Amino acid sequence: MKCFTHHDADAVAVCKPCGRGVCAGCATVATDNSVSCSPRCAETAARLGALISKSTRHAKATQNTQAIVLGIMGLATVFAGFVATGVGRGVLWSAAAFLLLVALRYGRLARTWKQAKGE
Ligand SMILES: [Zn+2]
Ligand SMILES: [Zn+2]
Repeated sequence: MKCFTHHDADAVAVCKPCGRGVCAGCATVATDNSVSCSPRCAETAARLGALISKSTRHAKATQNTQAIVLGIMGLATVFAGFVATGVGRGVLWSAAAFLLLVALRYGRLARTWKQAKGE
């Protein structure tokens, strides 16, 4: 691949936001080591990066909350099952098992984010 601006120069990297080839003279390296072809693209890359880390944090917080809410709902359903009699108990305990399983899954997802970010 050749540099988008300098057609005779070999590209050393690809601009992250626009996908153009950049030569050693054109490449702008940001603090997160992403390469951009222009200050405009560097700005776009920085904004995208901020957006991604923000949504990652948001997803983690949402999954944590969902894990807690579902866990509480699951436990409440278990207790409701103790009070209920006959078929109702079986239905409630099945629902409780489902809720607790989903809660566990969200809890694990939230931990995955933690590990991925190396916190
Ligand atoms: Zn160039
Ligand atoms: Zn670019």
